[in-house]
Amino acid sequence: GAELASATSDPAARAEALRREIEHHSYQYYALDAPTISDAAFDSLMRELREIEAAHPELVTAASPTQRVGGYVGEQFAPVAHEQRMYSLDNAMDLGELDAWMERVAEACGGMLPPLCCELKIDGSSIALTYEDGTLVRAATRGDGTTGEDVTVNMRTVCDVPLRLRDAARPAIAPGVASLELRGEVYMPKKSFETLNAAAEEEGRQPFANPRNAAAGSLRQKDPAITKMRDLSTFMYAIADDTALDVEGQWELLQWLREAGFHVNPDVRLCKTAAEVRGFCEECLRRRETLPYEIDGVVVKVNAFARQREMGFTARAPRWAIAFKFPPEEKTTLLRDITVQV
Ligand code: NAD
Repeated sequence: GAELASATSDPAARAEALRREIEHHSYQYYALDAPTISDAAFDSLMRELREIEAAHPELVTAASPTQRVGGYVGEQFAPVAHEQRMYSLDNAMDLGELDAWMERVAEACGGMLPPLCCELKIDGSSIALTYEDGTLVRAATRGDGTTGEDVTVNMRTVCDVPLRLRDAARPAIAPGVASLELRGEVYMPKKSFETLNAAAEEEGRQPFANPRNAAAGSLRQKDPAITKMRDLSTFMYAIADDTALDVEGQWELLQWLREAGFHVNPDVRLCKTAAEVRGFCEECLRRRETLPYEIDGVVVKVNAFARQREMGFTARAPRWAIAFKFPPEEKTTLLRDITVQV
C-alpha cells in the first residue's frame, strides 16, 4: 500500500521511517528488556535499511543504527567508559553469506584462508570484567559500545565469575600489566528461564520474551539479591587488549581463560578450511536443541591476533569475525534440511 509506494519512490523517507522504527524496537529490547517484535522481524528491518544505504550511500548518517552498536545506557547504574570499544558482530544469514565472508578474509590474507576459530554464539548479554592485580574490580555491560553500565555488585553474585584469577594465569600476563579486561557473555540457562517465566505468569507479572532479555534484565536489577536468585552463568571468550597477554590468537586465549578460572565454552573448533567451518556450523545447528542454554549461531573468528589487527573494524563490528546466524528457533526443523543441502 502506501508504505510500499514510499519505499520505491522515496528511499530517503523510507530510510528515515526504518531508523525510527528500529530505534523504537532497540529501546524496547535493550532498555526495557521487553521486545514487542521477533528478532527475525527486527533483523529484516535492519536488512532493508542496510540495503537502502548500500544503494544510496549519501543517505548514511553517523547516527544510523547500521553504524552503531545496538544497546542502551540507562541511568540506574553508573556509566563506565570502555577503554577499548565493545563491538557487535556482522551477520551471515546463510551459508552463502558465510562463504562470501570467508572469501573476503582469504583475499585480505593474500589469497589463503587463515585458520579460523569457531565458537558457539551464546544468546546472552555482553559483559566486560576488569581485574586489577588479579582481583575483580569492575563489571560493565556493553551499552552502546563506548559507554556501558557498572553492574559490578550484581556480577559478583554470578557463581562462575572468579573474584580472583588463578595463579596459573600469571606467567602469560605481559610484564608491567596490572589491569586486564576480559569479555564474554552472561546468560540464563533454558531451565532457569522457564522456571522464572512460570513464576512470573503465576504472579501475574510480565514474562521475559527470551533468555537473552531475561539475562539482561536480571543483571540490571537494583537489588543484587534478586540477581543472585536468577541463576545466571557466563562464558568468557575475549580480552579487550590482547597485547596484555603472551598469546598469539583466539584459540590460545580460550585455553588461557580456562586456566585463569573462567567458564569457557567447550564447543570450539579451530578450522583450516571453509568446508570445516561449514561442517561445524551445521553440526552446531543440529545439536542446538540438546544444549542447556540458547545459542543463535556460530561466531567465526580469524584466529591470529596479528591478522585481526591488520583487518581492523568497521563502525560497529570487527572485519575479522562474523556471526553465522541460525534461523529462528520455531523454524529450525524446517530450515535445517535446506541448510544441510546447501
Ligand atoms: P548480536 O547479538 O547479533 O551479536 C553480537 C554479540 O554476540 C556480541 O556483542 C556478544 O555479546 C555476542 N556473542 C555471543 N557469543 C559470542 C562469541 N562466542 N564471540 C563473540 N561474541 C559473542 O548483536 P547485538 O548488536 O547485540 O544484537 C542484535 C540482536 O538483538 C539481533 O539478534 C536482533 O534480532 C536482536 N534485537 C531484537 C530486537 C527486537 O525488537 N526483537 C531489537 C533489537 C535487537
